Amino acid sequence: MRNEPFQNALEQLAQVKDLIKLDEAVYKKLQEPKRLLEEDITITMDNGESKTFKAYRSQFNDARGPFKGGIRFHPGVSVSEVKALSAWMTWKTAVVNLPLGGGKGGVIVDPKILSARELEALSRAYIRAFYKFLGPTIDVPAPDVYTTPQIMAWMLDEYEKLVGYHAPGMITGKPLSVGGSRGRGYSTAQGGVYVLEEAMKKLSLGQDAKIAIQGFGNAGSFMAKLLFKDGYKIVAVSDSGGAVYNEAGLDVEAIDKHKATGKSVAEFSGGQKVDDIFSVEADILVPAALENSITVDNVNAIKAKLIVELANGPITPEADKILAAKNILVVPDILANAGGVAVSYFEQVQNAYNYYWSEAEVLEKLKIIMTTAFNEVWEQKDKYQTTMRMGAYALAVGRVAEAMKDRG
Ligand code: NAD
Repeated sequence: MRNEPFQNALEQLAQVKDLIKLDEAVYKKLQEPKRLLEEDITITMDNGESKTFKAYRSQFNDARGPFKGGIRFHPGVSVSEVKALSAWMTWKTAVVNLPLGGGKGGVIVDPKILSARELEALSRAYIRAFYKFLGPTIDVPAPDVYTTPQIMAWMLDEYEKLVGYHAPGMITGKPLSVGGSRGRGYSTAQGGVYVLEEAMKKLSLGQDAKIAIQGFGNAGSFMAKLLFKDGYKIVAVSDSGGAVYNEAGLDVEAIDKHKATGKSVAEFSGGQKVDDIFSVEADILVPAALENSITVDNVNAIKAKLIVELANGPITPEADKILAAKNILVVPDILANAGGVAVSYFEQVQNAYNYYWSEAEVLEKLKIIMTTAFNEVWEQKDKYQTTMRMGAYALAVGRVAEAMKDRG
């Protein structure tokens, strides 16, 4: 039977409840989103026919500030998935101490078979369905799987037409031309680099540490390029076509150019093709592809001392237990990939001021947020004698619970 994502989210909450002795009333409220919106949205297709799609917005918790989270356009979207993702966004914004709550949206659709006009119509229809429940001080969407800055611009435009005034802070991940933030494009990876460097200090790993990165998409390729530029040794990278390995270090810029020609990184000539990226000789592993990539079947091949979860949920709960028993340090997703939502928050702040920061200012602020959060999670890990994952949950759920109790 398929593991229901929201069931997993509730199990994690149950674990942290015991750890931090979470108030019963708060725990009960956190069993369901505060509001779950569902609507059938209909658009006219290019052939003149009408087509209806299921659309969702889950507003999980806003005790710490407006709901915040992306909108996913994917055939696999479900109520359970959107609810789970909205819970995880609540913990993610709390762990990095942003004054925001958590939400998530989705449409059950395969956007790859839509024309640009149909995609625009769908994006605008989504906003018409839910705009009364969105806004800079209510709920602020962003891109997620298969949604882009262009889609954010259409959604902003539709919203502003409906409400009759400018409100750029109602959505983030926008193009720069309509109020996007500098640095947003690679912010997830940059945040990952900052926490990776903090974790390396804890393990006394130096710049010669060998790093392997699974996934060469938005998150993974930027992570590889940033680390390479900073002089780190990337010994392996992979994509859906396979993995490439070079013990002496790969030329990541050359791989990026190779990948841009449409080929898999596995075909790159500056290294050897390998079957399994997780089994290579590396000190640090960065899963940056899909969920459930590290399982009981491959976890024992891992030689790394440190894993930084740039992807969401890349390690199954069973494999996670094995890694903890082996004392392999895992920096959990809700901390490691929070750089994206942190810069989304900066985007909203700039929109509110109608004054825009330089890229250097964005990065300076991002570094403070990520390193502070890393060290706060580390303290919780020590306090409760637990993993970084449970330390992060203890910090995040504790912060949400405090805000809920203070509100009475
Ligand atoms: P993406 O679609 O741009 O890239 C995914 C990459 O994974 C591609 O290179 C693909 O080839 C590769 N891949 C797929 N199957 C693979 C396999 N079996 N082995 C190795 N590689 C494989 O997606 P993304 O935006 O980079 O997101 C990756 C992960 O990071 C997701 O879990 C996502 O939720 C998470 N994340 C991304 C962001 C962001 O800002 N992009 C923010 C937070 C979390």
